Amino acid sequence: MNRENTKKYKYLIVGGGVSALALSVLLASKEGGESVAVLERLDRVGKKLLSTGNGQCNVLPLSNETSNYHGENPSFFNQILKKYGNSEITAFLKSLGVILTLDGDKYYPYSKQASSVLDAFRFKIESLGVNVFTGEKVTQITKENNFKIVTESKSEYCSQNVIIATGGSAQKSFGTDGNGYNLLKSFGHTVTPIYPSIVQLKTNLKQVKGLKGLKQKVNAKAVVNGKELASFYGDVMFTDYGVSGNATFYLSSYLYAGGDMVIDFCPDISQLELTNILKEKQISCPYLTAEYLLSGIINNKIACAVLRNGGFNLSGSISSLNAEKVALAIKNYVLSVNGTMGFENAQVTKGGVKTSEFGLDMQSKLVSGLYATGEVLDVDGDCGGFNVKWALASALALYGGIYD
Ligand SMILES: Cc1cc2nc3c(=O)[nH]c(=O)nc-3n(C[C@H](O)[C@H](O)[C@H](O)COP(=O)(O)OP(=O)(O)OC[C@H]3O[C@@H](n4cnc5c(N)ncnc54)[C@H](O)[C@@H]3O)c2cc1C
Repeated sequence: MNRENTKKYKYLIVGGGVSALALSVLLASKEGGESVAVLERLDRVGKKLLSTGNGQCNVLPLSNETSNYHGENPSFFNQILKKYGNSEITAFLKSLGVILTLDGDKYYPYSKQASSVLDAFRFKIESLGVNVFTGEKVTQITKENNFKIVTESKSEYCSQNVIIATGGSAQKSFGTDGNGYNLLKSFGHTVTPIYPSIVQLKTNLKQVKGLKGLKQKVNAKAVVNGKELASFYGDVMFTDYGVSGNATFYLSSYLYAGGDMVIDFCPDISQLELTNILKEKQISCPYLTAEYLLSGIINNKIACAVLRNGGFNLSGSISSLNAEKVALAIKNYVLSVNGTMGFENAQVTKGGVKTSEFGLDMQSKLVSGLYATGEVLDVDGDCGGFNVKWALASALALYGGIYD
């Protein structure tokens, strides 16, 4: 493409995910849509947003705390998330006509449709006249006075400012294969080690043998090097490789590099109560064999696996088992986690571009006019709306940094 045909913008956003969509609305509202361009490699914008929250779009967590976020530089995301928290994001979404509703500890659009959130962005972007180019994968960005942006199809764009909003490495079918890291590396930025997070966990196979498909409400803790890092009340679902379920997804933020998932299969019953229940059962049901001691209390297949793995002999009579020790084993099943199901299955990337190399306005400290927002940065949140929140908060921070 010759120079005359090169399109020129004030702001060019690489990626058409949730962070980019929010940012393009904000920037175009101030500067006019003709000044803003979005380049998205897929055939349409916001594909990942459509699958968030099982298609319902868990857009925010109830919690406005920052302790559910991770990254090398907490002071960076703490300051941004404190300034651009739930009420600022809720007000922004409301300005697009999206009203939120609380379900448990998560906020969703009242419609419970991710597509309605994407529509709200799309219609606003259209009304503002933002230049959206789909099927445009950015492969190279260079800077002289302005930035020159080249795409795989050999189109060239020119912009005063460039925002990298390419997401991370989780689920490349959504266009997120980690290539955004290279775009920022080409300007001297550093990428911290990256890991899949909010993902199914691989465990010692012996400990889950025969349990595939079984699901149980539990209280589970993430313990790494003897230290309890987090706990969650929810479902653990057994699989042929390890565990899935919302408790697993939540704890994977802490167990991504291995550790122990310590499961309490009777979270509503204290250890003493359980011991007494088991002792009573040993008296009232002497005709049962040991393998039925927990039947009627928790799933018996799970109970037998837990007890066998704990070295209990289940071939004797029900009274042959020590009730105290059984209660302890059922409330403290230590499952050894030795990996994750990888980026292909993960909802978010842990790690990313170093945030110490960016200001609170999301601008690079190395190259003026270069910005980054969303998951491409070394900030990830726990399961439950924290990651869409970061994508939106960082977009608001960029806009606020320029115009407030
Ligand atoms: C199945 C699933 C469910 C999820 N559910 C939730 C949830 O309920 N709540 C929550 O908070 N989080 C959820 N997440 C995480 C959340 O969706 C992401 O953290 C968030 O979308 C990140 O926003 P982003 O704008 O940074 O990037 P993304 O939304 O990932 O968008 C990045 C975009 O950039 C494009 N792109 C990449 N490279 C280039 C390039 N070189 N040129 C042009 N375009 C490019 C991609 O195609 C993509 O469209 C979920 C994730 C997945 C995968």
